[in-house]
Amino acid sequence: MIKLGPGAVIGILGGGQLGRMLAMAAAQLGYHTHIYCPDERNPAEQVTDRLSRHSYTDETALVNFAQKVDVVTYEFENIPVASVEILRKHVPVFPSAEVLRVSQDRLQEKEFLNGIGIDTAPYKAVATETEAKAALNVIGFPAVLKTRRFGYDGKGQAIVRLAEELPDAWAQLKSNEVIIEGFIPFDMEISVLAARGQDGEIRCFDPAENIHKNHILDLSIVPARIAPALRNTAVDIAKRIVAELDYVGILAVEFFVSSSAPVFRVNEIAPRVHNSGHWSIEACPTSQFEQHIRAICGLPLGDTSLYGRAEMKNLIGEDINDMDIYLKDPDANFHHYGKMEARPGRKMGHVTRLLPTVEPQ
Ligand code: AMP
Repeated sequence: MIKLGPGAVIGILGGGQLGRMLAMAAAQLGYHTHIYCPDERNPAEQVTDRLSRHSYTDETALVNFAQKVDVVTYEFENIPVASVEILRKHVPVFPSAEVLRVSQDRLQEKEFLNGIGIDTAPYKAVATETEAKAALNVIGFPAVLKTRRFGYDGKGQAIVRLAEELPDAWAQLKSNEVIIEGFIPFDMEISVLAARGQDGEIRCFDPAENIHKNHILDLSIVPARIAPALRNTAVDIAKRIVAELDYVGILAVEFFVSSSAPVFRVNEIAPRVHNSGHWSIEACPTSQFEQHIRAICGLPLGDTSLYGRAEMKNLIGEDINDMDIYLKDPDANFHHYGKMEARPGRKMGHVTRLLPTVEPQ
């Protein structure tokens, strides 16, 4: 167990908006942050006092970075595991390299979840189109083909509704590490953000209901509009996952919710703070960012109860041009990620609204 007090330096791999909001939460608790990110003009560098701009595979730069910080964490899961292995020889890294390895590979992730009795979509790992054809005969149609690694926001995915669609879908993925999942006709998608401290204490945020547009998160609503008993079941599943992984920090668990059994299937886990938890900045005493910093620094975890209902809307691409409208709206808590170029599909900011607890009639 390490306990770091104010003045310590938290190393963060990755300089996107998640790194930015982690650095802001760390500063609020009195810590320095050192961002390690190869990209020019990354959103996190505007709010940190230390920066290393090097590749994630530059061993000398990684060791140098490790010697300047007291703990390391990461804001995205596509960091090479080998880089974390190098860092951890010099400095504690949370979440661990083992957790990173499992969550980077959709096959290992599903094997882990099924191994501890948690439902997922039915799946088969395949390496060739011939194997994919055979797997589809078992899984049935429609099915979703996904690359095992490096997929996000619907990238590295293709739906196959009929056998004839397989050749095009296979060619599109350009990978020989693929899993085929049965298509789940879910009623809702939710996520639970679970935090586990170094001492094993676990605290979860309320499940959020997530609505996607063009495969990108559009809206998160808390609490999710499911029965309170079901909310507890989802939270219990997330608690089991972080306990089994001996996890430290925030982990996001994404679920498909169906009306018939199994009601909950885990779609994926992310070993980091998550877009579907941004409402926690205004809607809870402790945000997901602060909670992560508390966990990795060995501080007591904070209160995650909801002040009331809340809704977070992502501002994608040109949505950010409506900034003035949000600034004039007394209920809107507006966040800009400091990105200057509003490319289509790019997450530029978000807005959180706290809503009346009772729905107006
Ligand atoms: P993922 O990259 O695995 O998070 O998938 C992105 C989105 O695609 C999910 O949020 C779902 O909306 C949809 N999706 C992925 N896998 C499935 C599945 N097996 N069945 C139904 N929808 C899926």
